[in-house]
Amino acid sequence: MSRKDVEQAAARSPGQDRVGRVGLVGAGVVVAVEAFWLVLGLPAGALVSDLGALTAAGWAAVACVAAARRHPVTLRRFWLLLAVTMALSLAGRALWTSQRLLGERLPHTLPIGLIFAASLLTGTAALFCWTTAPRTTVGRARTLLDGVIVGLALIPIGWLLIFRNVSLADLDEPLRTAGLLYPMFDLMQLTILVAVVGPGRPVWRPMALLGVSLTVRAVADTVYVSLVAAGTYQPGTPVDVLWPLSYLLIVVATRMSPPRDHGAAEEVGEVGEAPLPQWWRVVLPYLPVGGAIVATMLARDASGHTPMPIFLAMMALLATLALRQGLAANENLRLVVQLRKLAYVDQLTGLPNRLAFTRRLRGALRGTNRVAVLLLDLDGFKQVNDRFGHTTGDTLLSGLSRRMRRAVGDDGMIARIGGDEFAVLVTDGRPLAPERLAERLLAALQPSPGEELVGVHPSASIGIAEYGPQHISHTDLLRDADIAMYAAKAAGKSAYRRCTQGLRESAVSRAELIADLRRAVDEEQLHLEFQPIVDLATGAVRSAEALVRWRHPRLGVLSPARFLPLAEETGLILPIDRWVIHEACRAAATWQDRVPSATVAVNIAASHLRRPDLIATVTEATAGAGLAPRALTLELTESALIEGSDAVLDRLGQLRELGIRIAIDDFGTGYSSLSYLHRIPATELKIDRSFVARIPEDARAYATVEMVTRLAGAFDLGVVAEGVETERQHDAVAAIGCVQGQGYRYGRPTALAELRAVLAKADPPGVSGVAESGLTLT
Ligand code: C2E
Ligand code: MG
Ligand code: MG
Repeated sequence: MSRKDVEQAAARSPGQDRVGRVGLVGAGVVVAVEAFWLVLGLPAGALVSDLGALTAAGWAAVACVAAARRHPVTLRRFWLLLAVTMALSLAGRALWTSQRLLGERLPHTLPIGLIFAASLLTGTAALFCWTTAPRTTVGRARTLLDGVIVGLALIPIGWLLIFRNVSLADLDEPLRTAGLLYPMFDLMQLTILVAVVGPGRPVWRPMALLGVSLTVRAVADTVYVSLVAAGTYQPGTPVDVLWPLSYLLIVVATRMSPPRDHGAAEEVGEVGEAPLPQWWRVVLPYLPVGGAIVATMLARDASGHTPMPIFLAMMALLATLALRQGLAANENLRLVVQLRKLAYVDQLTGLPNRLAFTRRLRGALRGTNRVAVLLLDLDGFKQVNDRFGHTTGDTLLSGLSRRMRRAVGDDGMIARIGGDEFAVLVTDGRPLAPERLAERLLAALQPSPGEELVGVHPSASIGIAEYGPQHISHTDLLRDADIAMYAAKAAGKSAYRRCTQGLRESAVSRAELIADLRRAVDEEQLHLEFQPIVDLATGAVRSAEALVRWRHPRLGVLSPARFLPLAEETGLILPIDRWVIHEACRAAATWQDRVPSATVAVNIAASHLRRPDLIATVTEATAGAGLAPRALTLELTESALIEGSDAVLDRLGQLRELGIRIAIDDFGTGYSSLSYLHRIPATELKIDRSFVARIPEDARAYATVEMVTRLAGAFDLGVVAEGVETERQHDAVAAIGCVQGQGYRYGRPTALAELRAVLAKADPPGVSGVAESGLTLT
């Protein structure tokens, strides 16, 4: 039921509203008059008391029917049952009054007893129709038993407090004795109400009023029972006003608007979502049991005998408790089964999860058969998440997992053990070679014709590890599969590898290298070398590229190729790049006195480009070094730029606005369409070394360099020919019209001090003044 329905149902016509208000005020006045009457002890108090109760009960019945019509359907049964309860109270009280007028003092007759018993049943049933009441039979039984426990526990307590000195013979008729149980039933209903209003949820005000009404009735019944037991009850004593008052409270409750969130309460599921009850609500039914035990001990007579009623009540209490415990134990078992299912199943794909997988793997390793594990990692899945969002990623994952499960079939157990990581356990007795299974898995991942995500072709890298029984721990087996999986990744996408001794050894040093790399930045093991970039026409050096080196404590100086891939994988590239940017800016600042127009180029990793803080890093570095932003060039590879989102383009635009220069590195290797050149605010292209290397003998390479140079001219971009090693290459690129060159022909990457010397030599005074245009074509 929607909120709108609730509001519509809650709306009442002005006419109805007036009648309701008048009725409430009328009933209120009647109860107030009765209260005065009885307190002042005016004549005919008994009759006034009867009339007051009849009026209030009658009006409450009418008001409940009205509420049933006005409120949402989900509350209809609740109000109707309450209306029946009030009507029964009215009938019982009417009968009582008539018999009393006929001369009986306390007419506890069978018809009246039956009517009150019926009202008890309907009242309790109404509570169970409340929107937050338990829905299952077990839940209802539990709540009912809680109520019964509290009611039964009250018997010994009541006995001790009220009846100890009353002999049973005084309570002549059995029906009158039964009437003495009213407080017990009140307490039972009150307990059920507390349980039903819902653990942890805000209590709807009318329900609270109903609780107060029940409490008032419990007080009235208790006082009544004690007075009767003491033989001092007179109809028309002030206590009598409490019954009509309890009915009046129900009338007030009907006047309130229905709860807003009861629709939501209905949706609360079985396990998990429902709020846990507060501890006191769980303990509540058992507190009176403690009281009952104490009362039973105190109630023993001089000879140590327990009075029969208490004995019977305690037996009944014990039986109820046993029943309740049985239910709870059963419920717990069911929950445990459910929780276990939750703990071992991946929620997204429905596959077994990592926990389930390792359990099965350990079990398999305890056996006598060979065990193989296939570890499967989806290639490029992170990009799918980044580009299309997690919902798409999730859809893709569950679709892929279905396919893989089908591919594995009965030949193994497939589990999802991480975000985009799956594992298959193959135990012996299944003669299939793990390699065949890997092939099947890779085939299953091939995009089918009608694939939903056009452009996203999921592939996977699979690592295989296989061992005889008891030769290896499950962690070692998984680690081996992991090593093989990385080897498969390195071999290119959509591949599988089996773990070998050689792989394991190289993986160990790889792990060590990663650990060492973590320390490298902090322990100042990195340093920069600078490679000059020269003006091809004059030979002047007005720029240099900063290239990072790692002086490894044991392995000596490592080139970027040795450690940057690891750094990219582990995210260590970010601190490294930041360090390089700062260091390069500081270095370039020392050149400014010699060559004011000198610039420094630094390489930026693709992952760094995706981070918004790149701008802050760059501005901090230039400002900190006192370097003008235009003296810094960021080199980005073509692939990093193509992968880039609109946010990346924005970032590049902002960098350009700051004055930072942007070079496209290794241009020509990215297999990209040239159309993206329009969108990227670059200032120069660096033609990849592979073209320059072939230029003298390969006409096509020559044509490519020529074309790129012209293209750059058209886009108003500077051009740098990379990797110029020989004189012939130099002549060729100069003839084509490249403005700048970089390569061993002009100088290898060197230490900062040596570069300063080159700068000073090649840039004679007078040239520096016009050198501003050094990087552009014009
Ligand atoms: P790159 O940006 O294309 O840098 C030029 C690479 O070519 C350098 O290799 C340089 O030493 C080499 N080189 C220069 N002239 C010649 C030549 O005439 N012949 C030959 N064969 N090679 C030449 P290096 O220093 O090993 O750097 C390799 C790559 O590592 C760089 O390629 C760059 O992509 C990356 N890299 C270097 N330093 C950093 C850094 O600080 N941060 C990031 N993110 N990447 C870096
Ligand atoms: Mg570079
Ligand atoms: Mg390059």
